[in-house]
Amino acid sequence: MGIENPAKGQDVSKDTAALAEQVRAGSRVALARAITLIESRKPEHRAQTRQLLTLLNAAAGRSHRIGITGVPGVGKSTLIDSLGSYLTGRGHRVAVLAVDPSSSRSGGAILGDKTRMASLAADPNAFIRPSPSSGTLGGVARTTRETILLCEAAGFDVVLVETVGVGQSEVTVAGMVDFFLLLMLAGGGDELQGIKKGVMELADMIAITKADSGNEGPARAAAGDYKAALHILTPPSASWKPPVITISSREGRGLDELWANIVRHRAALEATGEFEAKRRDQDVRWMHAMIEDRMRQVFLSNEAAAAKIAELERHVRAGLMPPSVAADEAASLISGCA
Ligand code: GDP
Repeated sequence: MGIENPAKGQDVSKDTAALAEQVRAGSRVALARAITLIESRKPEHRAQTRQLLTLLNAAAGRSHRIGITGVPGVGKSTLIDSLGSYLTGRGHRVAVLAVDPSSSRSGGAILGDKTRMASLAADPNAFIRPSPSSGTLGGVARTTRETILLCEAAGFDVVLVETVGVGQSEVTVAGMVDFFLLLMLAGGGDELQGIKKGVMELADMIAITKADSGNEGPARAAAGDYKAALHILTPPSASWKPPVITISSREGRGLDELWANIVRHRAALEATGEFEAKRRDQDVRWMHAMIEDRMRQVFLSNEAAAAKIAELERHVRAGLMPPSVAADEAASLISGCA
């Protein structure tokens, strides 16, 4: 099996080379086209996608990747809108990828995101893109990670990945960012908010939202509770104790502290070498996840395998064969369908 690598003497189409160049030059139109290309499921786009990612690989990696999660209504879009504007006001270029496994956003959803984040949508230094949720890997599109790389190649130095914290997608997103921020409501109760303990364990910081002036009491009380809760959980990194802060996106309160913590976290992890090690680990884990994904696709799109699996399914349904034996028989076909 040959491994194509356009960087090593393969023909790269002129179109792809031109597109890569335009992305590198920071063109938002080209970036949007490149993302659409990698999201395409058409087999003829696969090779082009690989070439594009390879060409842009060296220019990627230079952003601060931040995941933001929380239940619907907690204030994710409002925070991203104000934090994003806060950051572009300080010279950053901010990309926002919105992953929502609970709704199948596409086309028209871009408009949805643009109304949800009105200031950022009008900001020339920001780029907002919904990530399609169709795909495997916990509802996160297989392309979300590649989209991060493309945004980085286009010069976005902060990438915010938003995900609704109710399913599996937040686990996947936590595995592709440098910093994972969990938003919580005051007085909501963990069960009410549907946040599992596992998600709290992933958090590098918790921010209690909607702590508007005159209404900080409940937010402070909630912050105290979460501090106590975090105390008994294992933090995601040995060099960082996840803080709990209160914010009001509506009033822009707490944004300084929020960003300062994100910057401090990076410095702390860079000092121990953990930052770089974490990214390499994430790359390797992603590769394995993609291999599984590809293997499943290759296997299931093979006609003989599909027919055999249908037959095995009938046997299992009729109680004539144990599921594990059927799975072994199916697996023995793999060598024949690559
Ligand atoms: P999302 O579903 O997590 O994206 O939440 P949204 O950002 O759409 O916010 C849900 C609701 O909470 C909206 O009506 C917002 O206006 C409101 N909201 C968000 N942030 C704040 C805040 O800091 N203070 C107040 N009072 N309301 C807020």
